[in-house]
Amino acid sequence: MKIYLNGELVDKSKAKVSVFDHGYLYGDGVFEGIRSYNKLVFKLKEHIDRLYESAHSIMIDIPLTKNQMEEAIIRTIKANKLKDAYIRVIVSRGEGDLGLDPRKCKGNHTIVIIADKISLFPNKLYKEGMEIITVPTVRNLCEAVNPQIKSLNYLNNVLAKVEAINSGHQEGLMLDHLGYVAECTGENIFVVKQGELFTPPQCMGTLRGITRDTVLDISKKLKIPAHEHVLTRHEFYISDESFLTGTAAEIVPVVRVDGRKIGTGRPGKITKRIMEEFQKITKTDGVKYKI
Ligand SMILES: *Cc1c(COP(=O)(O)O)cnc(C)c1O
Repeated sequence: MKIYLNGELVDKSKAKVSVFDHGYLYGDGVFEGIRSYNKLVFKLKEHIDRLYESAHSIMIDIPLTKNQMEEAIIRTIKANKLKDAYIRVIVSRGEGDLGLDPRKCKGNHTIVIIADKISLFPNKLYKEGMEIITVPTVRNLCEAVNPQIKSLNYLNNVLAKVEAINSGHQEGLMLDHLGYVAECTGENIFVVKQGELFTPPQCMGTLRGITRDTVLDISKKLKIPAHEHVLTRHEFYISDESFLTGTAAEIVPVVRVDGRKIGTGRPGKITKRIMEEFQKITKTDGVKYKI
């Protein structure tokens, strides 16, 4: 496997980053997870835009233009001869000293791109649906570490994941500090009630997911009314259908929350229709490359 490291494609065994990198010391950096489907990189522009927005927000000036970043990503996928890939782009503050002061990193940001195969959840889950549980760890506050920043500082989500796993679940539902539904540990959440879609608004502790936006576009096309609206757990429990969205997870039906059955306890009709449409879009949309 070839890894992109600061402009060079190096062997996996040589892809090493300093222990003084503030990405390692403090989670001081940003990232993206991107997918390609049959030699088409899905929503590449959107992912690159969000990467640069996250970096801007934490005052990292990425030393590549967006076009150069796009080229670097495609170069990495091609070097690994992947038709279908999961691509991780990481930009960290870079090597500094043991203090927090980012100026000590002298602007030498570390850029890493990994292109690999991925399957996050077993196939069975997409057919039968997932059972999730509300976890005690509250989603980061916008006023603290804004969830809109896709940062390497992922401990908030890791703690939630650990809690979900400790109680025998694959995913945990995170609430915001007011007790409203925020998102899962790495996926946005949707519910369906009486034929309409609902998802928490961004900045109620949710990252504005690109898959979430894609589902909102699909709903427009399919003429399914969709609302960005605050959701309580109660509204979740009494919904007809539910599903999670994320680049790695794609669209996962949710059939049980905190022991309560959602709808019939099987993936719902609208969920399946949206999954179908999503698959169609990934086959035709995207930035083409050759291997
Ligand atoms: C990346 C991420 C998502 C999903 O966003 P996509 O753009 O759809 O991949 C949701 N929640 C969190 C916390 C994330 O980091």
